[in-house]
Amino acid sequence: MSEKFTGSFTQQEALPEAAIEAALNVMRHGRLHRYNVAEGELGETALLEQEFAAQVGAKYCLAVASGGYAMATALRAVGVKHGDRVLTNAFTLAPVPGSIASVGAEPVFVDVTENLTIDLEDLAAKADQAKVLMLSHMRGHLCDMDRLMQICDNAGIIVIEDCAHTMGAAWNGVPSGRQGSVGCYSCQTYKHVNSGEGGLFVTDDAEIAARAIMLSGSYMLFERHLAAPPAEAFEQVKFETPNISGRMDNLRAAILRPQLRDLETQVARWNARYQVIEAGLRDTPGLTVVERPEAETYVGSSIQLLLLDWAADALQEVIARCAARGVELKWFGPPEPVAFTSRYDSWRYAKAQSLPKSDRILAGIVDMRVPLTFSLEDCAQIARIIQAEVSAVFQAAS
Ligand SMILES: *Cc1c(COP(=O)(O)O)cnc(C)c1O
Repeated sequence: MSEKFTGSFTQQEALPEAAIEAALNVMRHGRLHRYNVAEGELGETALLEQEFAAQVGAKYCLAVASGGYAMATALRAVGVKHGDRVLTNAFTLAPVPGSIASVGAEPVFVDVTENLTIDLEDLAAKADQAKVLMLSHMRGHLCDMDRLMQICDNAGIIVIEDCAHTMGAAWNGVPSGRQGSVGCYSCQTYKHVNSGEGGLFVTDDAEIAARAIMLSGSYMLFERHLAAPPAEAFEQVKFETPNISGRMDNLRAAILRPQLRDLETQVARWNARYQVIEAGLRDTPGLTVVERPEAETYVGSSIQLLLLDWAADALQEVIARCAARGVELKWFGPPEPVAFTSRYDSWRYAKAQSLPKSDRILAGIVDMRVPLTFSLEDCAQIARIIQAEVSAVFQAAS
């Protein structure tokens, strides 16, 4: 009998006791709306913003309803208008092109490399097509950020960073989200902190911050923010900026604050799991592990394997055989989108674009979540199963 994995790929850890206590406290006093504070009280949401700004070294921070909302707000706040084109990654998830479409703009997709990062040559070639780049650090892979910023600065392109998978990551020591004009993070259950849904927005630009705060639905209560620019920044903005409500509430902020204090510990735990899986898969014929650059501090909350240039039926067989042994792998190759997996050509609201180089890579990407509820032994077992099944199918096919 071959071994079978019995854990759940979608089971998160319980929230820390400090988060549960903080949530109970908010529920007991009932002031869940961020601007509903007692005399002299600093609300949980305002405190969360202040703490996250300090954590990533940003001047300003805004907590919102989701990561996708943070990205759409960023696009609006930097001035993207209906009909504008916005550069973005061909390899990403649906909320990214969705944020672009939500402001009536047009995504222009940029190729992915075998390192699963944005292709900087393709970016340079397309730099004259848009004034904004929505850069997705998809699955936590950071491109050469110094080179990217150089390309974008030279072309006058504003960079917004989608850090849904890089909260806690860094490039050359600079926290992810701090090189572009705006960094956007998700606090959704499957990301690095868990409030069910939620998002964080950081910037050093006072006007962008003021616009984002007004957009999120602050009415004229922006002075209750602790990580906001001074009141002068709102003088014009407050009359010109529509309210598109997407505020975070005090309950979610309360459960996020203790989790952010634990982030570094959690990152180390993710990486320990990631490294066990990676070590177990290295040297598997037909399988390429994605090498992590020296300059990158990553968060191994998921792992990607490349089965490049495999026939689709062989690849599908690997997925099926692993599934039969309890290992849930997601493949980016199938023609129709499945579950969370999707490709640039599944977003048919965007103009059809041809990216043959990306097609080859997407067809070989296999993706797996690494929840913290897995033990290191679980991770070793998962790697053994994947290695055995990839090897078996590979040998049969060659
Ligand atoms: C989850 C995710 C987001 C934002 O998601 P929300 O669910 O809106 O918080 C953005 N980009 C990527 C790549 C994601 O996976």
